Amino acid sequence: MTEPRSAGADALAQPQSPLAVGDETRLRFEVDAESGAARTGTVHTQRGSFATPVFMPVGTRAAVKHLAADDLEDLGSEIMLANTYHLMMRPGHDVVAGLGGLHEMMGWSGHVLTDSGGYQIFSLKPKLDDDGATFKSTYDGTVYKLTPELAAEVQCALAPDIQMVLDVCPSLPSSPEKLRWAVDTTASWAARARAAFATESKRYSDTYPDRPALSQFGIVQGGIDEALRRESAERTVEIGFEGYAIGGLSVGEDKTEMYPALAATTSVLPEDQPRYLMGVSDPVSLVEGVASGVDMFDCVLPTRNARHGTVLTSAGKLSLRRLEFRDDRGPLDPACSCSVCARYGRGYLRHLMLTKEPTAQRLITIHNLAWTFDLVDRIRDAVRRGTLDDLRRETNEVWG
Ligand SMILES: [Zn+2]
Repeated sequence: MTEPRSAGADALAQPQSPLAVGDETRLRFEVDAESGAARTGTVHTQRGSFATPVFMPVGTRAAVKHLAADDLEDLGSEIMLANTYHLMMRPGHDVVAGLGGLHEMMGWSGHVLTDSGGYQIFSLKPKLDDDGATFKSTYDGTVYKLTPELAAEVQCALAPDIQMVLDVCPSLPSSPEKLRWAVDTTASWAARARAAFATESKRYSDTYPDRPALSQFGIVQGGIDEALRRESAERTVEIGFEGYAIGGLSVGEDKTEMYPALAATTSVLPEDQPRYLMGVSDPVSLVEGVASGVDMFDCVLPTRNARHGTVLTSAGKLSLRRLEFRDDRGPLDPACSCSVCARYGRGYLRHLMLTKEPTAQRLITIHNLAWTFDLVDRIRDAVRRGTLDDLRRETNEVWG
């Protein structure tokens, strides 16, 4: 067990890292309220700050599908995610750098986090060795080799506020040997990624002295093996990052297997740094994740669901394609206070959906994101009031 640390108290006691961990000029996390393992807080960077727990909408190719930066601002989003693999292929990270980096290119002044590209590449069945992952591009069939160093270099060119290390993310179930190799390789890649980040982020800051400094998060693996999770967390913390992600969950296991692995991981991660559960944000996992001490979440589901006409509501999921909504003038969710629910009815949105008017996907995307942000607001409020258990029960009844 790592001893709980107070913010910045032992910033000087981390000699292993090529960059000072707890360098508060880069990224600082402040806990505002706690309830059990759950906490609300604020992440401060040189760009500004964002409140946690937070849900990050996914803008795969530097846009949340159907939305622009001002839509995200209207929704109150403070941080979004973009995918390194796709941007590295098109338009290319050098092109993004030439357009001023992700923020300037997108006209977005909130925070941006990029993944390392590893997750997409793993779905392409790459050839893995100790050095990196060799894969064929889905865009033009070209063969690339992504290494921890290249992932850091590419992300420094894209210039998100927070970048992720390249990790090995096995699907579950996996053999103990495969999980062990994933944990060992992820740890060795994390050390290489951190060294590369130290060089590349310094080069970035020297080139653009007026831009906010970049941060990097490590990733914990270990499948659903709690001892392996703790070991992976300890080894990642030893290298030292601005924050820590929990990867390799929600990849085939069921939820009763996922939560103990999650709790085992967060119990080892420093209390004064942000924790990010990757790729998980169904309502039950959001609430359970926060209860386990997670601060940051992302997932394509709210936006992907929206494009298929699946609406998130306080009564559960609703498929707008069903005939029963044809003559329904009511809002998508009577309990929702978003701009779409205030103005449009189910019958109209169903008609737009069935006639393939792109406006339907746009409006339902806005609702599903507003609904998810509202759930996160309610979770924050419940942590502050000490009523998270009530919200857990309520959420499980509808979504469990
Ligand atoms: Zn709504």
